[in-house]
Amino acid sequence: LLDVQDLHKSFGPHEVLRGIDLAVMPGERVAIIGGSGSGKSTLLRCLNFMEVPTRGRIALDGRALGRTGRDGTVAYPEGELCRVRRRVGMVFQQFNLFPHMTAVENVMEALVTVKGTPRREARARAEAELAKVGLAEKRDAYPSRLSGGQQQRVAIARALAMDPEILLFDEPTSSLDPELVGEVLRVIRGLAEEGRTMLLVTHELGFAYHVATKVVFLADGRFYETGTPDEVLKHPRGERTRSFLARHS
Ligand code: ATP
Ligand code: MG
Repeated sequence: LLDVQDLHKSFGPHEVLRGIDLAVMPGERVAIIGGSGSGKSTLLRCLNFMEVPTRGRIALDGRALGRTGRDGTVAYPEGELCRVRRRVGMVFQQFNLFPHMTAVENVMEALVTVKGTPRREARARAEAELAKVGLAEKRDAYPSRLSGGQQQRVAIARALAMDPEILLFDEPTSSLDPELVGEVLRVIRGLAEEGRTMLLVTHELGFAYHVATKVVFLADGRFYETGTPDEVLKHPRGERTRSFLARHS
């Protein structure tokens, strides 16, 4: 479904990603762990095409995106970006809801503006997605009147409304009060049980252990260690993986 080869990303002289290779099959759930500043968000942003890689190849269903120059640099034509962005949904640490729109308006916004869905139909779809995340009765509430956990569930409903083939979660619970984490993890677990393909950046290692099919540890801009949850989280081989886990358990 998704194939990443030798992905590099620099900000000025600072090379954040230094050759990432990743293949994601339909139904796979990849947990990405790593220290602060290791490039986890940058990687997800590249996979969502919000960030253009310095070089490397990203392919969806075997079709590479953008045009690669002779020096390996990539350029994305705007029309192609619109098409592929719909296939990848993203949920952010800070929810990123539109504050001046109600829950249902937030969820239907992209359906109307990006997909061109008629408003009535978009509203019905949005209400159904809100019901799925347990927020049917909050559909007319503004984000400021919702708890963090509720806001994050609206953000998940918004991503789902676009029928993405891949869901990217960037630390979806790390800005939540501890008592609100569970309700968001339950929604994500439900999506996992449906067989959704997802990439999840998280510090919830216990959750990653139970939900992921594959875990990767990102360090120095590379996948330092990759394996099953049991291999990486319970029996890490690398020294750096071990010390990271020791600090985060
Ligand atoms: P965290 O766990 O704190 O969220 P992260 O693994 O998600 O960290 P990134 O946000 O991907 O890390 O950032 C990786 C590095 O890239 C950091 O050193 C950061 O300062 C730098 N960086 C990220 N975005 C930009 C940008 N737009 N311009 C310049 N530097 C950036
Ligand atoms: Mg981050």
